[in-house]
Amino acid sequence: MLGGRKNRLSDYKARRDFRRSPEPSGGRKQGTGSRFVIQQHAASSMHWDFRLEIEGVLVSWAVPKGPSTDPREKRLAVRTEDHPIDYWEFEGIIPEGEYGAGAVIVWDTGRYRNLRAGDGDDACPMADSLDQGQIEVFLEGEKLTGGYALVHARVGGDEKNWLLVKMDDEQADARRRPTSTEPESVLSGRTVEEVADDKQAD
Ligand code: MN
Repeated sequence: MLGGRKNRLSDYKARRDFRRSPEPSGGRKQGTGSRFVIQQHAASSMHWDFRLEIEGVLVSWAVPKGPSTDPREKRLAVRTEDHPIDYWEFEGIIPEGEYGAGAVIVWDTGRYRNLRAGDGDDACPMADSLDQGQIEVFLEGEKLTGGYALVHARVGGDEKNWLLVKMDDEQADARRRPTSTEPESVLSGRTVEEVADDKQAD
């Protein structure tokens, strides 16, 4: 056994024929452009869930103030549990009484590229960046583009607390406020308030 996180899906894959099974095949190769999604979530407190596909799961952070396009803004990003890949297109209402109850929209999504250099010409594997608490990705979204860093700063001494920061590149823009000015879902065109209103209509 080679062991380590890179091979954690090897048994899963060896047991299945994905030409026959509709099950997710789990995980794309590193550095070829994996998915990211940012879901606006009107839970007990509003937040934006930032999720990066890493080795077959969506590694997730809850960002109370949402992402910024201003490199001077360091946004608290609280690590939450890994989500399955197909969660990226989830939009709807989590019922009252359930974990995370409230409306969810896909605020932005697209592919990302790993920007962090590793040994030689290779990129640092995303899983290693996650373990090391230093992630650098180039987002290719509809609303957000350019470099973003996620840093395990342990804000307030809490292991869960990372920071999400726009990297200072051509896509940086201190004047944009996309969470306010572009609130619509990139999948349905609806706002999180409109999705939440479905509940009243029932
Ligand atoms: Mn959430």
